[in-house]
Amino acid sequence: MSGYLLALDQGTTSSRCIIFDRHGNILSKVQREFAQIFPQDGWVEHDATEIWASQMGVAVEAMLALGATASDIAAIGITNQRETVVVWERDTGKPICNAIVWQCRRTAERCEQMKAEGLEQEIRAKTGLLLDPYFSATKLRWILDHVEGARARAERGELLFGTIDTWLIYRLTGGKVHATDPSNAARTMLFNIHTMQWDEELLRLFDIPSAMMPRVLPSAGLFGYTDARLFGGEIPIAGVAGDQQAALFGQCCFDAGDVKNTYGTGGFLLMNTGGRPILSKQGLLTTVGWQIGDRVSYVTEGSVFVCGAVIQWLRDGLGLIKNAADSERMASKVTDSAGVYLVPAFVGLGAPYWDAYARGTLQGLTRATNKYHIVRAALESMAYQTADVLAAMQTEAGTPISALRVDGGASANNFLLQFQADVLGKSLIRPACVETTAWGAATLAGLGVGVYSDVDELRREWRIDRRFEAEMSEDERTRLLAGWHRAVERTLGWGKDF
Ligand code: ADP
Repeated sequence: MSGYLLALDQGTTSSRCIIFDRHGNILSKVQREFAQIFPQDGWVEHDATEIWASQMGVAVEAMLALGATASDIAAIGITNQRETVVVWERDTGKPICNAIVWQCRRTAERCEQMKAEGLEQEIRAKTGLLLDPYFSATKLRWILDHVEGARARAERGELLFGTIDTWLIYRLTGGKVHATDPSNAARTMLFNIHTMQWDEELLRLFDIPSAMMPRVLPSAGLFGYTDARLFGGEIPIAGVAGDQQAALFGQCCFDAGDVKNTYGTGGFLLMNTGGRPILSKQGLLTTVGWQIGDRVSYVTEGSVFVCGAVIQWLRDGLGLIKNAADSERMASKVTDSAGVYLVPAFVGLGAPYWDAYARGTLQGLTRATNKYHIVRAALESMAYQTADVLAAMQTEAGTPISALRVDGGASANNFLLQFQADVLGKSLIRPACVETTAWGAATLAGLGVGVYSDVDELRREWRIDRRFEAEMSEDERTRLLAGWHRAVERTLGWGKDF
């Protein structure tokens, strides 16, 4: 039976493969870490060949573990770390240098310079993004400017550019297909999210030869077939989306107003805004969720820099807990945080504050404060930060949200989710399948080859693990949020004065 869906989930620290049946049951799962390369302070690189080898390795292992052959796999879906840049030779498929990873800050100065030239407004209007080193354009330009001969070769059409999805598609198809999808293209800062095409003016502005750009194909649909030598038969690659958009899709957030939050190391809140891109005044990003047929779903995105990472800090920095799961048990030992607020502005604050100089604080301490209050305040800070981003999103979208769907490592924490429901005054839904990113890629691929006829079929496969309902009174919620905002106020600008 050729009904399995194989998801390649190419993340920042590991390559994973999950094989699902059509109902979302996980049949096989393999993961492999690969090297992080830090050539200088603030620089981050990956070896694209190692990414390809690790991704291929886990795919083969996952198939072997299940005893599946190429003919058992209906389609492959790809989801990936976004914005990371690979440049390779068209003829040989060999990368000309290491991939520059989204985290890499080497082009910070270039971005500052472009901002000073007043270019941010135009770039923002076309791409929905902020002028920041995070996105691909300045990284790609850096390669063309710094790798010997790269620009001339790119202009002659000898070099190709791709984000990680494109790189994997190219290798999987034996160099036959050079393509991406709009959710990845939208993160390059070279793609116009209104015309849904590479933007000639932006390509000129960043000095990128258009000959090296991939074709942009819908997120669900045939991209190409795998080279028969790889898996012993051809398999269609039929779904592609960047990791956060894939998670939104995997959470069945198909309609305007649907929102998901991923509680990982950082937090990623994405809201589907339907066929309408909403440009934010509070520093949220506007991007493409996916394109199916000629229908585009737009998304508003906000991130929390330090989310689950605050729990890592309790463990590694303070030694207050042995493992992340301990935090739930400890927070539940006290009935409230007794007025203690922890603002984990360790690397500044993002939306809606945007203060690079904010630094963390622990406030409201008294002689009665104990470690349980501090652990509880840490978990609460994850919920407060999420509530701030969601409030900004709701105001701008003008769409009230019904329920927040949650995933990511820390969504296993029941205390956190109950508190989140309470401070939002909204229901939270944790799905049975928490592998939402891989499931999103798998189901896009399933739609692409007709395993599912439409998204309504996917809604029917959706299973809830648990719902969390708001139980807190309005007065209490207002009081707690006011305390949080006072605490945030005191962190702003702190690092600037020293
Ligand atoms: P990422 O994909 O960003 O690496 P994950 O989705 O795997 O992250 O989530 C890991 C993060 O979640 C870590 O920062 C960890 O501290 C946090 N975490 C994991 N389990 C729990 C838990 N039970 N309670 C609170 N935080 C948790």
